[in-house]
Amino acid sequence: TPVEEAFVPLRPAVSALPAYVPGARVGAGAPAWKLSSNENPYAPLPSVQAAITRAAAEVNRYPDMYAEELVGALAAHSGVAVENVVVGNGSVALLSHILSAVVDHGDEIVFPWRSFEAYPIAAAVSGGKAVTVPLEEGTGRLDLPAMAAAVTPRTRVVFVCSPNNPTGPAVHAGELETFLAAVPKNVLVVLDEAYLEFVRDPEAPVGLDVYTRHPNVLLLRTLSKAHGLAGLRVGYAIAEPRLAAGIRAVSTPFGVSHVAQAAALASLQPEAQGQLMEHVEALVGERARVVESLRDQGWVLPETHANFVWFDLGEATMQRAAEAKEAGVLVRPFAGHGIRVSIGDPEANDAFLTVASSWR
Ligand code: PMP
Repeated sequence: TPVEEAFVPLRPAVSALPAYVPGARVGAGAPAWKLSSNENPYAPLPSVQAAITRAAAEVNRYPDMYAEELVGALAAHSGVAVENVVVGNGSVALLSHILSAVVDHGDEIVFPWRSFEAYPIAAAVSGGKAVTVPLEEGTGRLDLPAMAAAVTPRTRVVFVCSPNNPTGPAVHAGELETFLAAVPKNVLVVLDEAYLEFVRDPEAPVGLDVYTRHPNVLLLRTLSKAHGLAGLRVGYAIAEPRLAAGIRAVSTPFGVSHVAQAAALASLQPEAQGQLMEHVEALVGERARVVESLRDQGWVLPETHANFVWFDLGEATMQRAAEAKEAGVLVRPFAGHGIRVSIGDPEANDAFLTVASSWR
């Protein structure tokens, strides 16, 4: 629902904002499998929980404003210099900071649609003009040639979501190169890699290679998905140093909490990385099992390289989501379009597969 007009008038752009609808929360006592928010079903590692507990005893102090230790660890993890890294209160906060840094009133922001629902909200709040480009018909893939054609002299930013939330395909290296060759170098291309660690597409680009050759590309990443820290809100951007400095300059001071910094640092330790990537591998295995079972049920689905699957259900969407909820499975409906279902643990996935067969 739109924001209600207050006594003090809101900016028209704010009154008109579409709502960000979070995945439903599991109610107390309700038997439910929550597959609605692309969360990681694994609990935090013991080493991460211990770091959180230690940090909790220190929260009378402000956090390290620029999260220097964490930035150092992320730079080492990603193979870039510390000057290239900016952390944020979830990558969704960085999206807004990125726009604050580069978008002036009326500047154009190009993004695919349907894609991550925070894009139109962040674009509207920035004062920029959203220019949406439909996905390729039927495949759920980004239409990069059409996105390149949508770029005008007023375009300041293009969002490329790979894998695309909520449909699942990753962009391919070749088409991304062609796209980047067509986009002027003063246009920022945000490659949103929230689901990077789940990608198993041999044709997917290596983000860092892309960034190295195209400094107008910014890589946007998060510890919410593969690292399982969604509740603590840690995202990061890898960007050209002057752009990174601009994003830091507009960021909320002390935006990443002390506890979140500690947990993120613990997650980046080599041993923790090994365990976390084993979890990712198990989820990728579950994804393959779920997709194969769905194909056996007769579903034709877009190729997914994220931790979710997409059902193009059109007008049946809300009814199907209600049926899933009735069966104790929370999914994420997009009214009139389709349903996104996260990959959970095997029990949750089995519960969902039963629901999916009842939809046939
Ligand atoms: N980008 C994409 C494509 C996403 O799907 C999400 C999470 N839904 C985010 C960014 C934001 O993640 P977070 O703010 O938790 O880092």
